[in-house]
Amino acid sequence: MKFIIATHNMKKQAEMQRILSPLGVEVLTAEMAGVTLTDVEETGATFEENAVLKAENGCSESGLPCIADDSGLSVDFLGGEPGVYSARYSGKHGDDEANIQKLLKKLENVPDEKRTARFVSVVCVCFPDGRKLTVDGKCEGKIGFEKHGDNGFGYDPVFMVGKKSFAELSADEKDKISHRGNALRKLVRVLPEYLK
Ligand code: IMP
Repeated sequence: MKFIIATHNMKKQAEMQRILSPLGVEVLTAEMAGVTLTDVEETGATFEENAVLKAENGCSESGLPCIADDSGLSVDFLGGEPGVYSARYSGKHGDDEANIQKLLKKLENVPDEKRTARFVSVVCVCFPDGRKLTVDGKCEGKIGFEKHGDNGFGYDPVFMVGKKSFAELSADEKDKISHRGNALRKLVRVLPEYLK
């Protein structure tokens, strides 16, 4: 079965494809499927609201099952910031470097034990017949004092899981523990019922 993924982020598309391919699901970006999706404004107050907004819109515009993830980083010392604003924390959407620098600045002089954080992912799949499935996943970690590693995207270089950052893990190692990996593994458990 083919799913459209409502994102332009090829790294997210690849992560989802790796995890869902054992179920026989092919995850295509709109560009890969030859359809055009309107960019939905992420007006939701929660990851779940935004994931549902994106998946519903992608499904109704493409006529295909659509999968969307809304995810972000929640830092305890900052009362959950950047949260749903993770992608645009610095003011410019998707500027990973500026987002990281803003985060490091806000945590300047904050000791290691107070730098606890988690990535959260909510994944929603909408089907053309109106059915909808939502799952979530988390990954606990800490914000490092500087960047480490070159893999991944977004806040990966400053998100420490033990002694390594997400950006120092291979794709497979990240999938095994990541918020999106955990959400998608839940999806893999419940999706077969929907694919019948
Ligand atoms: P979204 O595309 O609206 O869900 O925005 C998610 C934002 O959260 C991204 O732009 C990243 O800044 C951050 N983010 C989400 N997942 C990850 C991840 O796995 N690694 C690093 N940053 C992430």
